[in-house]
Amino acid sequence: MAKIKQLSYAEAQKIAAGEVVDRPANVVKELIENSIDAGANQISIYLENGGKKLIHIIDNGSGMSVEDAYMCIKHHTTSKIERVEDLATIKTFGFRGEALSSISSVSKFTLKTKEETSQTGITLEVTNSAITNETINAANTGTEILVADLFYNVPARKKFLKTKETEWRAIVQLFYAFCLDYTNICFKLYSENKLIYNFPATQDLSKRLSQLYELELYKNLLFIESQDEKMGMKLTGSISNGQYNRYDRQQIYFFVNNRWIKNYKLSQALLKGYQNILQKDKYPAAFLFLTIDTQHVDINIHPRKEEVQFLHPKIVEEFVQSNVKQRLEQYLEQNLGHNKQIVTERATAISSFWPINNKIAEQAQNINFIKQTQNHETQNKEIQSQEFLTILNSQFKSQQEPQAEQNINSELISKENFLDYQLIGQVLLTYIIIQTQEGLVFIDQHAAHERIMYEQFRKKFDDTARIKLLFPQIINLNQSDINIIQDYIFLFKEFGVISEVIGSNEIVITETPVFLKNQSLLDIFKQTVGWVSELDFVEQNQMHHNIREKIHAQMSCKAAIKAGDHMNTASMHELIKNLYKIENKLTCPHGRPTIWVLSQPEIEKKFKRNYR
Ligand code: ADP
Ligand code: MG
Repeated sequence: MAKIKQLSYAEAQKIAAGEVVDRPANVVKELIENSIDAGANQISIYLENGGKKLIHIIDNGSGMSVEDAYMCIKHHTTSKIERVEDLATIKTFGFRGEALSSISSVSKFTLKTKEETSQTGITLEVTNSAITNETINAANTGTEILVADLFYNVPARKKFLKTKETEWRAIVQLFYAFCLDYTNICFKLYSENKLIYNFPATQDLSKRLSQLYELELYKNLLFIESQDEKMGMKLTGSISNGQYNRYDRQQIYFFVNNRWIKNYKLSQALLKGYQNILQKDKYPAAFLFLTIDTQHVDINIHPRKEEVQFLHPKIVEEFVQSNVKQRLEQYLEQNLGHNKQIVTERATAISSFWPINNKIAEQAQNINFIKQTQNHETQNKEIQSQEFLTILNSQFKSQQEPQAEQNINSELISKENFLDYQLIGQVLLTYIIIQTQEGLVFIDQHAAHERIMYEQFRKKFDDTARIKLLFPQIINLNQSDINIIQDYIFLFKEFGVISEVIGSNEIVITETPVFLKNQSLLDIFKQTVGWVSELDFVEQNQMHHNIREKIHAQMSCKAAIKAGDHMNTASMHELIKNLYKIENKLTCPHGRPTIWVLSQPEIEKKFKRNYR
């Protein structure tokens, strides 16, 4: 008996649709691309429930004739190519003719369209790949599409949809990409009928960037323009100068022949260009447009066209990396040259009183280190000695860390030993040294205090004293970051930071815990945006839990005494006493050691006194 059956058209379509759309953001992408291909210069998108309930797009493009309206929802119907060879010269986004047929097979789909030369427009309603309603009506020229209840008929897919917030963030990232790519189009994005983003058409990228991002980014952007005649390659766009950075990659955008693409290798090439300019775990902003001869790139390798394949990937990566590097170097030479001398002088001074640091001082004198240092520069471009020491010390710590860890011996730091100590003092403005029965105990003042603050925060959040700020702190972030932060304001509140979003890109902080009263909280807010973006795929409760932990650790870090801060005798005793009281005293909340013991036998060994 025959077992093989041909799937019905509707079923086959639903299965095929999985290739093109697996979440609301893919639908939005296909629809915006169609509107751009149709020559629209106004595109408005309305979302409900992060696009899961409704995606509604209106454009003022060419519109379609009645015949085309019927055609476009069938499989493999396109007005953009006729033969596969056409791909070599294609200028449109679309070419496969499967987006509308796919989307209409997995949603409750409505298409309204009218072309310029028609008196009337047509509305088609489609359910399960079949037209269920059609009407002729008055309409503006252009196209309007409603995609309701995505995957209502494919439960297996529907259950994989993420929370509203996650889907929304994916759409916003995509929306920003189109806004960067097509500055001549007016884009609007609504959520639950509220206008969230409104970016009028502009003439150039720079103006668009000023609409999309906060001033802080805008003023730290460097323009890039470079050409490689041989490969028919051109790179234009803007990158941040190293004074600006983020904790996530959300502001790295690459466009190849005007398509937004995700290409790991290209991002790596960009980051390599920033080597020695940005600290580990920090990312730049980059909006880079690569145009390349169409013979050298294949745009048809990814079902959702999110990736492209280069004929000579290495050459392209090298082109990006070297241009980024050169541009940054040029900037540093022009703007920061005078600081080189200051750093070198200080490095020499330090090496003379602290021989152990010779290696670091040497490092400080070479150019790379200076660039790294300039990263930490203050607004007035003067490197503060304290900051300099912090950097220097952090270098020192990272070199010493593995050894320090081996030396932690909890028995040596037992209760009795610890209590019975003699304070020697603070050294290098970073470590406290005490003498105990077992030898010398080094305490990293920042790491230790950080741990103390962390444990204190954990125990008694509710009665942590808060202070009303006389001058409320204003934090400027871009609109999309503000939208993310909005959902986490309540977590900050748990930690005693009372804040409120005002306007489209400001947060005002009115109250903080007392020990944070003079601290800028901008960094923690920026980090939170980064964590949320990186943790995008965890469930909401888990997300809150993780972010809460991270804020907790960062707050403790902020509140703690820094390396480079002077400590008087009383405050050193206080710190030692408090450290002794807590349980997890051996490491800071980030896992770095707080205490290092140099035992008497070890000292004796050094002096070859261990002959006994
Ligand atoms: P493709 O974009 O690959 O051609 P689609 O399924 O996305 O395939 O669209 C099919 C066709 O419908 C397009 O080729 C185009 O002619 C027409 N079309 C789709 N969206 C629009 C729109 N917003 N305005 C005008 N025509 C459109
Ligand atoms: Mg298309």
